[in-house]
Amino acid sequence: IRDLTVDAASTEHAEAIVQAVKALPDIKLLNVYDRTFNLHRGGKISITSRISLKSVSDLAMAYTPGVGRICTAIAQNPEEVYKLTIKQNTVAIVTDGSAVLGLGNLGPGAALPVMEGKAMLFKEFAGIDAFPICLATQDTDEIVSTVKNIAPVFGGVNLEDIAAPRCFEIEERLRRELDIPVFHDDQHGTAIVTLAALFNSLKLVHKSMEQIRIVINGAGAAGIAIARLLQKAGAEKIWMCDSKGILSTSRTDLTEEKQEFAVKAQGTLAGAMQAADVFIGVSGPGVLTPEMVRSMAKDPIVFAMANPIPEIQPELVSNEVAVMATGRSDYPNQINNVLAFPGVFRGALDCRAETITTSMYLEAASAIASLVKPSDLDREHIIPSVFDERVATTVAAAVQRAARQDGIARS
Ligand code: NAP
Ligand code: MG
Repeated sequence: IRDLTVDAASTEHAEAIVQAVKALPDIKLLNVYDRTFNLHRGGKISITSRISLKSVSDLAMAYTPGVGRICTAIAQNPEEVYKLTIKQNTVAIVTDGSAVLGLGNLGPGAALPVMEGKAMLFKEFAGIDAFPICLATQDTDEIVSTVKNIAPVFGGVNLEDIAAPRCFEIEERLRRELDIPVFHDDQHGTAIVTLAALFNSLKLVHKSMEQIRIVINGAGAAGIAIARLLQKAGAEKIWMCDSKGILSTSRTDLTEEKQEFAVKAQGTLAGAMQAADVFIGVSGPGVLTPEMVRSMAKDPIVFAMANPIPEIQPELVSNEVAVMATGRSDYPNQINNVLAFPGVFRGALDCRAETITTSMYLEAASAIASLVKPSDLDREHIIPSVFDERVATTVAAAVQRAARQDGIARS
């Protein structure tokens, strides 16, 4: 054997394979090479120059003294910064490293590979130059003031992997204090794509948003944002659960955001699931049982979106539900934020939106849903593929239209 390539499921799995190979008689292991680690070595993005510097004259225009005239022009008319610098096409991806993927509070350095990856997606799917900003603080006031102080460079701010409930206040304050779009992707990206998937699922089961009862399990960044957007889209009966059960008005431990969704009902997830039409899981692995799914109303819709392990393994109930979706790429119906955020920012930057509004989210969700043609819509195709090239441009156009209608477009 000269080369052997193995797809390991985890670092532990890879190490076990290496040990097993080493233990084989007559085989000498010369080199071990981890493709994923190798891919990340040296980082995944870099800055490139858009103009060539070949002569003294090029230099004199691009840098001093020429650049001085550009600075003066911007000082005299601050709006010119959008035309004469990188601002219009540049987004800050800001994290405090407190909720990295599903891995928890790993801190800013460990968050950087994720933020670099996010920058790649911005570039790849929407041509946006996004830059990772990993902050060495998890203090709300410090985060807000740091982001405000670096905002002059950026046309928008993508907040990422900041833990709930702090993420709600940080986003709200930054929105109030900045005149560029601020978008916490773990909240709104998720909510937009979930709504798109729900729009199409409801078509399949011939139910309306107003009529259905929805159970959302998980009342963190994703769950709260999903509930808020579904309400705006017309959902009237939403029961939310956290790790202690139904968000009930009888509970005294609810944060402000959780109180927004408190209902008279009380009890556990199992109770909430009885006769529910839709389950949306943004909680943790394996918390939904087949029995709970069987207790739902006719034609149940189940979105088990916890990553990487969903609330229920799809194969346990896929024959008993009308629609099953997860956050994973190895099952049908992947609910993934990358369907939303590149187009949302593309649209917002292109019309120089001063903020992001709920109607922009709603239009983005409708645009994503509309990309599945009625003839293609079935229980395994409720949402377009993340590689469908129409997605970002279609979302961007819808977002821009909504911004203009809301009167917040500045160009
Ligand atoms: P988060 O802010 O930490 O919130 C997690 C929420 O889940 C909390 O409300 C927590 O309850 C609740 N929870 C945890 N274990 C639970 C259980 N056994 N039963 C009921 N509720 C439980 O996290 P997040 O950012 O919202 O993300 C939550 C999950 O959704 C993660 O697995 C994430 O990967 C996934 N997600 C997927 C997508 C996607 O597109 N597929 C997008 C976003 C998030 P307490 O409030 O009581 O602690
Ligand atoms: Mg995230």
